[in-house]
Amino acid sequence: FDMFVLAFVERIFRPTYKKDDLVLGKKLGEGSFGVVYKASLAKKHSKDGDVTDVVLKRATEYGAVEVWMNERVRRACASSCADFLYGFLENSSKKGAEYWLIWRFEGEATLSGLLQSKEFPYNVEAMILREVQDLPKGMERENRIIQTIMRQLLFALDGLHSTGIVHRDIKPQNVIFSEGSRTFKIIDLGAATDLRVGINYIPKEFLLDPRYAAPEQYIMSTQTPSAPSAPVATALSPVLWQLNLPDRFDIYSAGLMFLQMAFPSLRSDSSLIQFNRQLKRCDYNLVAWRNTVEPRASPELRRGFELLDLDDGIGWELLTSMVRYKARQRISAKAALAHPYFDREGLLALSFMQ
Ligand code: ADP
Ligand code: MG
Repeated sequence: FDMFVLAFVERIFRPTYKKDDLVLGKKLGEGSFGVVYKASLAKKHSKDGDVTDVVLKRATEYGAVEVWMNERVRRACASSCADFLYGFLENSSKKGAEYWLIWRFEGEATLSGLLQSKEFPYNVEAMILREVQDLPKGMERENRIIQTIMRQLLFALDGLHSTGIVHRDIKPQNVIFSEGSRTFKIIDLGAATDLRVGINYIPKEFLLDPRYAAPEQYIMSTQTPSAPSAPVATALSPVLWQLNLPDRFDIYSAGLMFLQMAFPSLRSDSSLIQFNRQLKRCDYNLVAWRNTVEPRASPELRRGFELLDLDDGIGWELLTSMVRYKARQRISAKAALAHPYFDREGLLALSFMQ
C-alpha cells in the first residue's frame, strides 16, 4: 500500500519533460542503440536547486527496457546508478519513434578515462578520500585508493543484485564519478536484465562486451527451460536466481576491472584481449595464469602482483574469488563487501585518526 501511495504522489509531483524542454549540447557517446548527449533543461524548469545539466540518450526500440530498468533502480536502489530523471517515447523524430532518457549529469569522469591517465590511482585520490593520506606515494597508498573504488563499485552492484537486476555490461566506461555524492556510480542499463520480473530474460546476448564478459555464454545455464513468460517468471525466478546465480556475471566483469586497476599493463583494450586469451588457455584459472606469466614478468607486471600480495595476499584472494570459470564459485557482491580485503582500510583509517 505504501508503495502505491508513493508511486501516486510521485506521479503528481515528479517533474516530467518533453523534447522542447531540452537544449542539446555535445555528443558524449554513440552506440549501436542510441546517441548520448550532454544537454541542459530550459529555464522554466530550472528553479533554485533544480537540475539543469543533464544527459540525454536517444535510443532505438531497446530504449523501452532501459527506461523500465531505470525506473526500477530509481525506486529500489537509487544510489547505485546515475540519477534518472525521466524517460518518454518521442514520435516526432524523422527516424521514427525513439525513446528519450534523461539523467542528471553526474560529472565528466568515467572510470575508463581515469584509468587511462598515467597518474591513476592518484588522480582519483582527492576525489574519493576526504582526508589527505599520510602515506608516501607507493603501493600501500595506491592499494588504499583501489580498495575504495572497489568498495564503491561492489556496493553499487550489491544494490542492483539485491533488486534482482543483472547489469551485464559492467566495465570502466559504464562507471561514472558522481561529483555530487563523491562516489562512483553505475550507468548504462541498456543490456540489463531483471530476472525476478522476467524483463529482457534471454535476448540481446549479442550486446555483451567480449572484453569484460564472463565465459558463460548465456546468463542462465543451458539447463534452464525456455524463457518463461513474465507472470510465470515472477513466481519462478527467485528459485532460478538461486540455481544459476546470474549476478555472478557482473562479478566476473568487476574482477577484470580490479585486475586492470592493479596492473597498468592490462589497461589497454589490446592487452585486455590478450589477457583474456591467456586466461582461456589456462582454463580461466587465475592462479595458473599467474604461474605462467610471473617467472618472466616485466617489472611492471611484477609490481601488480606485489600490490595484490600486500597484507598476506588478501587482495589477490579477493580477485581470485571474483574471476573464476564457474559462476557459482564466484563470490557475491554482498560477500565481497564483507571480505577482509576491505577490513584493513577501516583499521588504517582508525590509526590515521589518532
Ligand atoms: P552507451 O554506452 O549506450 O553509448 P551510456 O549510457 O554508457 O551509453 O553513456 C555514454 C557516455 O555518456 C558514458 O560513457 C559517459 O561518458 C556519459 N554519460 C552517461 N550517463 C551520464 C551521466 N549521468 N552523467 C555524466 N555522463 C554520463
Ligand atoms: Mg556505455
